[in-house]
Amino acid sequence: MKYLFGPVPSRRLGLSLGVDLVLPKTCPFDCIYCEVGRTTVKTMERREYIPAAAIVAELETYFSRGAPRPDYVTLAGSGEPTLNRGLGRIIARLKNLTDSPVAVLTNGALLHYPEVRRELAQADVILPSLDTVTPELFQIINRPAPGLRVDHLMAGLRALREEYGGQIWLEVLLLRRLNDTPEELAKLKATLELVRPDRIHLNTAVRPVVEDFALPLTAAELAEAASFLGHKAEVVASGGSGRHPQFDLSDGDFLASLARRPQTAGDLAEVMGLPVAAVVKRLDRLVASGRVARMRHQHDTFYQTN
Ligand code: SF4
Repeated sequence: MKYLFGPVPSRRLGLSLGVDLVLPKTCPFDCIYCEVGRTTVKTMERREYIPAAAIVAELETYFSRGAPRPDYVTLAGSGEPTLNRGLGRIIARLKNLTDSPVAVLTNGALLHYPEVRRELAQADVILPSLDTVTPELFQIINRPAPGLRVDHLMAGLRALREEYGGQIWLEVLLLRRLNDTPEELAKLKATLELVRPDRIHLNTAVRPVVEDFALPLTAAELAEAASFLGHKAEVVASGGSGRHPQFDLSDGDFLASLARRPQTAGDLAEVMGLPVAAVVKRLDRLVASGRVARMRHQHDTFYQTN
């Protein structure tokens, strides 16, 4: 499979089958905290960066095999999925293929395009992000494509809320001395009251970032920000960013994944977006505790739950 990954455990979406709709790293933003790396194709142009037919063919293969039913099929990947002009066709086909709900992770850059909102209307959950409503900070943190302004994002989010009856779970990534000040949080809160997401997910730079000055908040600071933003806000940072399919897994998450099928350390590292060394270390500990068995098959070492 070239465009599907997982299913992998996700703190926000349970067991999530990820679908890549663009190649790395195609995005209208070049965020200073991006876990995928620097943007190589910064664009607002919609086209089939990966042919929708190729993605649909992989989905058909996956669901015809009787593979594990994911809690969500998540359109995400190595950039911005709404850039793919085949988005609507892919979601429509998915709704025929599976009763798993469809989630879309988006940075919101294209939500002011009516056709993007029409295509997204078929999804069950939309997870947009909004880090700041201050134009200067938007340039510093998200480094958008030329001509894209933060008021485009706000207009897109408000239009989405007016038109869309599904769940909107909005993610805010807070960075020290940038968008974490009381003034910034107050402005954000006022905007979120207009956008009316169903949930607000607070995150911070818990993983390697593009720029050294993208500094994380502490857990206590995040909790304080959540409390300020109100009852819809919750901290998701300990699970890593929900913005990309990379997850900070507990032992239980490893065991759940290995219970489904034997996997190599490389398999696990790839689907989880973690360094192989970190995965090997965790597996060694699980093997020593007797909860996971190590076995050789052909020339590879596989791991499986005991
Ligand atoms: S964090 Fe998301 S929106 Fe920002 S550059 Fe990376 S892929 Fe694009």
